[in-house]
Amino acid sequence: MIFENATLISMNPRREIITHGALAVEGSRIAAVGKSREIVEKFPAKKRIDCNGNLLLPGLVDTHVHLAQALIRGCADDLGLLDWLFKRVWVLQGNYTTADGRASAALCALEMIKSGTTSFIECMLAERYGFDGVADVILQSGMRAALGKIVMDLPAYARSENKMHPGMVEDGETSVRNTLAAHERWDGAGDGRLQVWFGPRTPGGVTPSLYDQISRLAAERQMGITIHLSEVKEDLDYAVSQGFRSPVEFAQAHGLLGPRSVLAHCVWTDAADWEILARSGTHVTHNPASNAKTATGIAPVNGLLRAGVNVALGCDGGPSNNTYDMIRDMRLASYLANLKAGDPTAVPAETILEMATIHGARAMGLEAEIGSLEAGKKADFILIDMDKPHLTPAWDPVSTIVYAAHGSDVDTVVIDGKLIMQNRQVLTLDERAVVQDARRRYIEVAGRAGLQVGSRWPVV
Ligand SMILES: [Zn+2]
Repeated sequence: MIFENATLISMNPRREIITHGALAVEGSRIAAVGKSREIVEKFPAKKRIDCNGNLLLPGLVDTHVHLAQALIRGCADDLGLLDWLFKRVWVLQGNYTTADGRASAALCALEMIKSGTTSFIECMLAERYGFDGVADVILQSGMRAALGKIVMDLPAYARSENKMHPGMVEDGETSVRNTLAAHERWDGAGDGRLQVWFGPRTPGGVTPSLYDQISRLAAERQMGITIHLSEVKEDLDYAVSQGFRSPVEFAQAHGLLGPRSVLAHCVWTDAADWEILARSGTHVTHNPASNAKTATGIAPVNGLLRAGVNVALGCDGGPSNNTYDMIRDMRLASYLANLKAGDPTAVPAETILEMATIHGARAMGLEAEIGSLEAGKKADFILIDMDKPHLTPAWDPVSTIVYAAHGSDVDTVVIDGKLIMQNRQVLTLDERAVVQDARRRYIEVAGRAGLQVGSRWPVV
């Protein structure tokens, strides 16, 4: 296939934007990128898709996703993180069946594809969601993913009195054993589209000795680790109670930092922490909508980036965002970072698009494979329909995407050389069936949980 006549944001090392550009796909990889005329001459027999001057760019990489939370979107609005967890999210998730886990993953994948995300890191798959069903439906969706399997051995958040819902409790031995089994079964599946990682709970939910075991096993098997760290003030208090200056130093002491580690949030961090993260090659996923909605703070993105930390971008989950639209969150990431810095030039649109593409690829350990449009890389890319009032005029395509576009402007999605969405129709999942299934299930889950969530205004 050749995608011709596009404005191509390559994200290559020179960050070239190619007008009248084309991209040739051979199998799962990009065969060539260049001017349309040259590419068409070089590959004359190829099937050609006219992009009508629209924007073609690498697929977005969401580095912090809770697949299981799509089904409980909007269940815990306007609550602080701990009430959010204890009164709503864990109560509902603790009543999931494996069929609910799969249905939520399908709904989430559908939404991600429809807003231009092609790869993601799932941070915490609990036992009760059913790993096999989730992995299977993600494979079917055509997406690329690192699936983090939960590991835990303490039923609490930060302090022992912050008890988890019993439906969410797992023991250390089983959670490690099942993570390794999932790794053996699914890592590398779908021609390498799936990875299986450790997704341990936040400090306070895992004993220090179990963290040591996780980091040892991850090193042995070259597995990734993703963990929520320094999200709320309570996380900082927990680290101090354990004799550490900060959660980052706690993580460092237990082998949880390094180039295969992705830390979510890092809101409560300082310059000394950034230095440790940069030196160890640890990645950070910034989740601006989630932090803003739960009012946990504005992550020091500018400081992290300036210290040399690879910062990527994540949407987090249905109850904390409440969408999985990376394009919307790019805009918010820029606003918040500049607001915190008191400087509208602190984190510009170009840096934000890097965070959502090449930085995300690096965090997934896939910088050589995805994140930019270059010959030899995997063909993961999206096409934005620019024929819209809110995208007109487009002086600068990067600024247009970051500041003006919506996820629903994504028209076409290609992952691993395969057309996954065309003209906004997803080709790998039955959209209607997925949405209808979710509409039925969220009510059933709430019923089992004994929770009534709805409008706070009288519904007549
Ligand atoms: Zn999260």
